[in-house]
Amino acid sequence: MKLLETARQLGRRSILPVMYRAGIPALMTRLYGDSLTIACYHGVTISGSMPYSGRHLPATTFRRHLRFYRRHFNVVSLARMFELVERNEPVDKPTLAITFDDGYANNLEIALPILEEFDCPATVFLSTIVFEAANHIIYADVLDILRIHGPPSGIVVDGVTYRRGRGRDMVSETGASLYERLVECMPNERDRIVDQLLERYDVRSIIDKEKIQYWRLLDSTGVVRLDNHPLVDVEAHGHGHYLLDKIPRGDAEADLIRCKTLFREKLDRDPEVLAFPAGSYTRQTIELARKLGFRYLLAERYKTPDDGDDPHLLERVSISGSTNYYSNILNYAFSLRRSNRIKQ
Ligand SMILES: [Zn+2]
Repeated sequence: MKLLETARQLGRRSILPVMYRAGIPALMTRLYGDSLTIACYHGVTISGSMPYSGRHLPATTFRRHLRFYRRHFNVVSLARMFELVERNEPVDKPTLAITFDDGYANNLEIALPILEEFDCPATVFLSTIVFEAANHIIYADVLDILRIHGPPSGIVVDGVTYRRGRGRDMVSETGASLYERLVECMPNERDRIVDQLLERYDVRSIIDKEKIQYWRLLDSTGVVRLDNHPLVDVEAHGHGHYLLDKIPRGDAEADLIRCKTLFREKLDRDPEVLAFPAGSYTRQTIELARKLGFRYLLAERYKTPDDGDDPHLLERVSISGSTNYYSNILNYAFSLRRSNRIKQ
């Protein structure tokens, strides 16, 4: 296992830069000149969010991404991307849209000035809970912070002790993942466990003491500022970031209605696009979202090959902050092969 990890590290540090400098990503953009792809980011901070989380990139790396995109792609807004697919419009260059999930404050404070620098449009998918709970911490970030700064003896949830496991997870003695448990559990249960963890381990004091910044979400003023910016669109990521296909249909419906209501109250409009939290959906989730007026939907990866025939459901390429620039760009370049291509 250790050998495999060493080989992977070696690959990232030496082989991938060689592949990059040999022009492979640029070659892929020429080979797949009709590709339409959507990049999925979470955040950009001064120095990234490792070792806590792989969801945020260092600003210098994000700047390199945009420089690469500007050179090799047409960078368009997500609205334009859906329009291209809907109208079956041919493109003269690989075309890319940029998205950010969850609504982190750094989207406004750090990513936006870099987007402006390169004149790149982006869409921010907001969990509307930010409008209701000031200083809300996403459950994944609570776990990440406790993994690094929690008691060495592990953290206890409902009598079960979870300790730092391999990678970025916390596992019980029987190998059960706390992260997976929280991702998949019912809304009330997840909220109860997270509240318990925040209180029992005094997560907010840890944040203050360690001066942890990356977890901060946008506040209402920040959302409005992003929404009014000519380069940015704000769209929906549900309300409480629950897996809409795993919770009861009634809860999923209530979550999406809450999300829509808050868009109306705070931004004076309906959201048009829904990015499924954690990319999790089924046919029923799609039908529910459509019934509630979400015209366009975003997956991470399609769940069935037929999903690719639906011009209003597009997939995205995840960008990771836990790997280096070369790895992300090569991964992106290879993803052009399976992109939302227009059938001409
Ligand atoms: Zn999300």
